[in-house]
Amino acid sequence: AAMFDSLSSSIQKAQRLIGKSGTLTKENMKDPLKEVRRALLEADVSLPVVRRFIKKVEERALGTKVLDGVTPDTQFIKTVLDGVTPDTQFIKTVLDGVTPDTQFIKTVSNELIDLMGGGVGAKDLEPGFPQIILMAGLQGVGKTTAAGKLALYLKKSKKSCLLVATDVYRPAAIDQLVKLGAAIDVPVFEMGTQVDPVEIAKKGVEEGRRLGVDAVIIDTAGRLQVDEDMMGELRSMKAALRPSDTLLVVDAMTGQEAANLVKAFNDQVDISGAILTKMDGDSRGGAALSVREVSGKPIKFVGVGEKMEALEPFYPERMASRILG
Ligand code: GDP
Repeated sequence: AAMFDSLSSSIQKAQRLIGKSGTLTKENMKDPLKEVRRALLEADVSLPVVRRFIKKVEERALGTKVLDGVTPDTQFIKTVLDGVTPDTQFIKTVLDGVTPDTQFIKTVSNELIDLMGGGVGAKDLEPGFPQIILMAGLQGVGKTTAAGKLALYLKKSKKSCLLVATDVYRPAAIDQLVKLGAAIDVPVFEMGTQVDPVEIAKKGVEEGRRLGVDAVIIDTAGRLQVDEDMMGELRSMKAALRPSDTLLVVDAMTGQEAANLVKAFNDQVDISGAILTKMDGDSRGGAALSVREVSGKPIKFVGVGEKMEALEPFYPERMASRILG
């Protein structure tokens, strides 16, 4: 609410300037855009992503992109540019039930929604039989938990699953997946810690086919930081399994670093999408914008708690209003 208050008062000021000059300029857009910038940075969107986003909104607000199609949110700006005086515009927008400041907020929010996935709602998993879902991500981000959550999610939509444990470097991670599987009543395939992870993954998929499951979800080893061994292992698994999805699990609390992280994973293993975890925390979710902007890949799910049920499809509209505060 605070964001909207300060944004709307700075836009009202801008409106008065617009009233004098009869047009939107870089000058009178400065304060409203500053507010947007502040909100995005507070939400932990990475700085280069914020810069590109502001530039886009500015271009849009200044009407340079208005000509290629009139969407309701650019309508106001277009009418101003068309030479309608701001005061008749004001009357018109009031009559339409939309005030200029909410109109601007809508432009910003629509731009955010577009960037995060075009307002289409949940991004589905890629088809396949079985669907092979490779989970990637750093250690501690919630990857193993997300694997279990995804299995339960699919199970609820009447799809059978097999979970595969390949983190041979941390026996605790294998135990954790076995326990999660037992809790949600989904079988877990593991071969201990003495077999090559790529081999385990291949055997796991074979086992999935033998069992006739709809989906095989492969939990992989994370590292504390981006690491060449980890990336190499993921690349080998991808080449061997040709998974339908390679999902990068990103901790929403990662903040500004999320952009670099996503770029590294996407460049090296070509992810198909992401799961943003720990959105039940106080993070404003700026990482969601960074993920999409940097990789072009959708966020498919959001983790909202430690329980196995705490997984939701990603809704760009909800995330946009959370980011704007
Ligand atoms: P991994 O090392 O990436 O496999 O991470 P884990 O799945 O072991 O999760 C690390 C910690 O984060 C655990 O304590 C999980 O319970 C917790 N966790 C995972 N996802 C979420 C989430 O969406 N919300 C919250 N609050 N905690 C989570």
